[in-house]
Amino acid sequence: MPRTIHVVGAGLAGLAAAVRLTGRGERVIVHEALQQAGGRCRSYYDAATRLTIDNGNHLLLSGNHAALSYLHTLGSEAGLVGPPRADFPFVDLANSERWTVRISDGRLPWWIFDARRRIPGTTFSDYLSFAPLLWASGHKTVGAVMSCRGPVYERLGHPLLLAALNVDPPEGSAALAGAIVRETLLAGGRACRPLIAAGLTEVFVDPALRLLKERGAEVHFGHQLRAFGLGEGLVSSLDFGAERVALDPADAVILAVPPWIAPSLVPGVAAPSEYRAIVNAHFRVDPPADFPRMIGVLNATTEWIFTFPQRLSVTISGADRLLDQPREALAATIWREVAQVAGLSGDLPAWQIVRERRATFAATPAENAKRPGPTTAWRNLTLAGDWTDTGLPATIEGAIRSGNRAAELA
Ligand SMILES: Cc1cc2nc3c(=O)[nH]c(=O)nc-3n(C[C@H](O)[C@H](O)[C@H](O)COP(=O)(O)OP(=O)(O)OC[C@H]3O[C@@H](n4cnc5c(N)ncnc54)[C@H](O)[C@@H]3O)c2cc1C
Repeated sequence: MPRTIHVVGAGLAGLAAAVRLTGRGERVIVHEALQQAGGRCRSYYDAATRLTIDNGNHLLLSGNHAALSYLHTLGSEAGLVGPPRADFPFVDLANSERWTVRISDGRLPWWIFDARRRIPGTTFSDYLSFAPLLWASGHKTVGAVMSCRGPVYERLGHPLLLAALNVDPPEGSAALAGAIVRETLLAGGRACRPLIAAGLTEVFVDPALRLLKERGAEVHFGHQLRAFGLGEGLVSSLDFGAERVALDPADAVILAVPPWIAPSLVPGVAAPSEYRAIVNAHFRVDPPADFPRMIGVLNATTEWIFTFPQRLSVTISGADRLLDQPREALAATIWREVAQVAGLSGDLPAWQIVRERRATFAATPAENAKRPGPTTAWRNLTLAGDWTDTGLPATIEGAIRSGNRAAELA
């Protein structure tokens, strides 16, 4: 009987691990607590807008090599769309000024020397303010190592770092911000092209489930792990409440659950315990024909607007301040801004607000320091998830890298 590797949690970390393991011929069983895979990266039919929407707009960049390679294996990379170049349009609602940051393709950042490509009112030397992030030590905040004021910060640094870290950038981990800058801005426009999935489940999740099925893996939904049977250095069983699965000594487990679950299952495991929210607003409307695929908005509640067929969707990061606001008022405020940016008039269309309270762990130095590596005190138990120590903030790229790493170790 070949050994079995149990993957607990069918978010992107668990799916990536299962795809990698079955690719090398391992026998895999995936256990997911809910009736749907994808975790914090999923789509569903929304009755209010009568559209299939994502729980949140998810942005990838062309330099997210693990995510792109995962989609390549699934054969669904064509479901990612974006502009042909690393162009980032912005609008400032305080004065209606519009501009586009156009990052040049190569590693040499010649775009910062070209006034038509950089932010209006800046000089090339302003961009050097990001440099200290590249060698920042683990416990420093962004605010401690770089200036968080001036046009380059306000018009590029703040929106990009807020989106990447999901914390107010000055309190964010400079090391995590440095990793983002190194893998994107410093790698040049070829690594910074924005990529947006046509639908998260359609691109990231369903093709993985299909491939796993083809490869003979089992995926059990509604299968919530309640506890491990823990022996001397080995996990000996999995307790699913009504069912208990005994493990052979050669079997292994990859635990790919969120950070608020893992410590209740694995004694002594450290995990980040502070989170930040992301709020998304979805409006059923036909976007203007020439409206960009994605646009950054400054001096507004809205931070980014994403364009989909029949829908404009807004993302607001680090959005804990909005969690207790009445939904109707929030939708009206955001719609006013969207209508202004898109040149649309008229009443509030059909809308939905999705508030993910624990969208990501708070990417502060203190929370980052709590992230564990993949190995545990039990030789056959490996951890995966965006919250494990990947060197990246909680992102799709980090989740998939952690799943790949766990698969290599299992
Ligand atoms: C609104 C929002 C917007 C985001 N935007 C972006 C973005 O633009 N770009 C980006 O890169 N990232 C973004 N992210 C982050 C990204 O979604 C996450 O980093 C990633 O999906 C995490 O995957 P994961 O597999 O580590 O964890 P999860 O997705 O949390 O998966 C864990 C899975 O484990 C299951 N589970 C839990 N307990 C058990 C149990 N006891 N037994 C069995 N199963 C269990 C859960 O149901 C879940 O399916 C965003 C997240 C949110 C919420």
